[in-house]
Amino acid sequence: MRFVYKLSTLLMVLTMGVAVLAESDRSKAKDKDKDQAPVDPIAEHIFYSEAKLVENMHKFRPLVETYIQNMKPDKELGSVPESDKYFLGRLILNEKGISRKNFDEHDRPNLMSRVLDRLNSFYKMNYLPLGFMQLIFLNDRFDKDNYDLKYLRQQFLGDVRTLVFDVVPKKHVKGPHFLGRIWVEDQEYNIVRLNGTYEPRVRLNTFFHFDSWRINMQPGLWLPAYVYTEESDVQYAFGRTLNMKGQTRLWGYDLKHSGIQTEFTNVQVDSVKDNADSSGTGNNEIVPVQSEHKWEREAEDNVLDRMERAGILAPDGEVSKVLQTVVNNLVITNNLNIEPEVRCRVLLTTPLESFTVGHTIVISRGLLDVLPDEASLAMVLSHELGHIALGHRLNTKYAFSDRMIFPDEEVFRQIGLKENEAEEAEADTKALEFLQKSPYKDKLASAGLFLRALDGHSHQLSWLINPHFGNRMAKGSSHLRMAALQQSAPELEARNINQLPALPLGSRIKLDPWDDRVEMQKSKPVALLSVRDKMLFEVTPMFPNLVRFNGKPDEVATKQGNK
Ligand SMILES: [Zn+2]
Repeated sequence: MRFVYKLSTLLMVLTMGVAVLAESDRSKAKDKDKDQAPVDPIAEHIFYSEAKLVENMHKFRPLVETYIQNMKPDKELGSVPESDKYFLGRLILNEKGISRKNFDEHDRPNLMSRVLDRLNSFYKMNYLPLGFMQLIFLNDRFDKDNYDLKYLRQQFLGDVRTLVFDVVPKKHVKGPHFLGRIWVEDQEYNIVRLNGTYEPRVRLNTFFHFDSWRINMQPGLWLPAYVYTEESDVQYAFGRTLNMKGQTRLWGYDLKHSGIQTEFTNVQVDSVKDNADSSGTGNNEIVPVQSEHKWEREAEDNVLDRMERAGILAPDGEVSKVLQTVVNNLVITNNLNIEPEVRCRVLLTTPLESFTVGHTIVISRGLLDVLPDEASLAMVLSHELGHIALGHRLNTKYAFSDRMIFPDEEVFRQIGLKENEAEEAEADTKALEFLQKSPYKDKLASAGLFLRALDGHSHQLSWLINPHFGNRMAKGSSHLRMAALQQSAPELEARNINQLPALPLGSRIKLDPWDDRVEMQKSKPVALLSVRDKMLFEVTPMFPNLVRFNGKPDEVATKQGNK
């Protein structure tokens, strides 16, 4: 129990600033100790809460996804992505410290880029997944012996009133230490945001600058959810400058989804009900075609259930309904009669992809984020609907339960959903047919523009377009999904602020890191100041709207000026 601090030890000595925040119940003490440095228990609380968080993290095994873009300068756009990198794993914290379990890596885009990767690694920055996990809490020496906390001010982050401190290591501290700022909520003194870096920074062994956020997921429990990383002027080798930005997201905290439970858990009861006989025969006898459909639906439900338990598929919810509405528009205008009905789900990961599991269409969070409008969403859905209408089937081997018993980290390898090239082409053709008869037929220019932009970025963003399950939407310049739409689309105009072929990552979907539910962002679109704001497919900083678990906003203190 490394974290248990002896509360009986002397209280932390803080700088003068702390006296200001302590106005309420500590004001008397302040007056009395005016001449000496004031003694305040708040720092002690903060050190204690942070240690408790680290201890609490032993109980959880969240998924950690990091996506990095290396940037290069661009005259018009400021900077643009030059290459990218991606990791997905599970964070494991135990007695030995922090470690990770990687999800199986799938094949890189092509042999060429793998060769390039090798060559590049001689002079390029190598990113270590573990390094990104160390940016979510402060190391075990974060205590009063090693750090001073210098109080700056109060500040609201979202609904939550916080106290802001600079964290400064004491003179005697050697080895890697945090230097930066923390925001601490003022009820239990949990750190809700930390921003800074580790020092000393030495060549070839760089600690990134990071901005790390926590969310109040359960009463009294603030857990790491987002980390933004950025470097723009680090010299590292052969005179090269590192210019990168990265997003790390954590989710899957709820123990139900953490893989700790037995693999035999069966949650199919609800979904099987959907398959209730609708033939109108009035009895439960089913004819062979129906039993084949029922068998296929079982395989489908098995796969979806297993993905959900592995923490990579969002539970059915609000976003599914939005997608369903667009699918219905296509189904109705094309007089399709698909039994059992088409369903939609969201894959929680960033790489851009869509695929079908039987009659369920799955779209990744990353793809939903960057799609510019409903017509381009309809374009993605219509391709998948094409597969379904053409009877491209899920392998029914997944109807056998033993196929679903494997460690979570193998999910990409164990479940195969790729279609062959011929089926891809057929689905494209079918999709165009559907779109031409749909309410989206006059709005397809934006879908074509999206594809153009995707095509244009596919060389640089090879990890972003590298799917976990589905088929690639773009393959360098040799192949692009729904290529016909691209041909009829207008030219890309990087300088035109009104042309938005794709959005930055994180634009639409909000993910609840506790229970994996997703919802649409409520914020309204923002007017762009310049073409530099377009940031197609790019990583941006993250500012979660902090709220307390009980949903009640903290009150703004009336006495003193607050920010
Ligand atoms: Zn396909």
